Amino acid sequence: MDTKQIEQVKLMLATKKNVVIIPHRNPDGDAIGSSLALYHYLKNDHHVKVVAPNDYPSFLKWLPGTNTVQLFDKQNSQAKKTLAAADIIFLLDFNVLHRIGDDMKNTVELFKETFIMIDHHQQPDTDLTEFIYSDTSICSTSQMIYHFLEKLGGIDSITPEMATCMYVGIMTDTGSFRFPSTTSTTHRIIADLIDFGAKNAQIHNNVYDTNSYSRLQLLGRSLSNLKIEPEYKTAYITLSQAELDMFNYKKGDTEGVVNYALSLSGVVLAAIFIEDVEQKIIKISFRSKGSFSVNQLARKHFNGGGHDNAAGGRSEISLEETVSEFVKLLPIYKNNILKSDEV
Ligand code: 5GP
Ligand code: MN
Repeated sequence: MDTKQIEQVKLMLATKKNVVIIPHRNPDGDAIGSSLALYHYLKNDHHVKVVAPNDYPSFLKWLPGTNTVQLFDKQNSQAKKTLAAADIIFLLDFNVLHRIGDDMKNTVELFKETFIMIDHHQQPDTDLTEFIYSDTSICSTSQMIYHFLEKLGGIDSITPEMATCMYVGIMTDTGSFRFPSTTSTTHRIIADLIDFGAKNAQIHNNVYDTNSYSRLQLLGRSLSNLKIEPEYKTAYITLSQAELDMFNYKKGDTEGVVNYALSLSGVVLAAIFIEDVEQKIIKISFRSKGSFSVNQLARKHFNGGGHDNAAGGRSEISLEETVSEFVKLLPIYKNNILKSDEV
């Protein structure tokens, strides 16, 4: 977004509007954090709603404003009404419409007014709107919201609620400030957010230390299922639907599990394959260390995408077949995987 477009955005927001904010399907901490931060910023002057494609994990359900979020799948007619009344739709933490799922995409595609996209993934759909703030070097969309507020001259309006939401988004998308995308600017912004009222210790506790017993048992099962392919510096985990059921799986319970595979000494490529019988897919998360791009791997072979070191995808064959396809790819990518430096 250039200066001229920022001026246009300011002009659009100068009068009261119906604003809808949409995060991607299966929203994570950054998607919900950035959406609710922007919600709190705009809500005093506009009619604002966050409409999420579907539900999100309980470890995010304490965020200020969480009770106002509409779920497109569960509150369908209400969400459709909200979308139909919109003057401006913000698309946060994704950059192609299929990331909100086919049902919601069909509704959102009917929208003829202004989309504003703020996102840090690669290859944004530039046909969707001219109002695109895209920067793949920034760790999180929540940090981009902070920069967006800077552009709008809104930093002084940051409330403790907004600071908390942005803090959560930055914290979760940087693996608690440890991924290479974490910069000194990120830390400066985090310091500002604490000054604006984000309670850092409480936030970490609310997100990371609210596990259920069954979630930890599921983690135990995931770790017993861990397989290592030392020749390819690769490790992966599988979870079948039966295993998820056995441990009373709830949305969000498998979040972060793939990182245990990546935490093995010497491993630079990690994956988790999770069976979803209802959607008839295997959901895959990929992680890497160094130069090996899991975004490219996910795009090319698993109908997905993401970032160079964290991406996701899916397959429509069985769990065993999906894993076998993945293992078959390893020799093809062996050189690139072995070249991928450990950070
Ligand atoms: P996760 O593995 O945590 O679900 O996702 C890792 C990253 O990849 C996130 O930035 C997420 O938005 C992106 N991602 C996950 N699944 C998909 C997918 O199916 N398609 C695309 N394009 N990106 C994905
Ligand atoms: Mn993100």
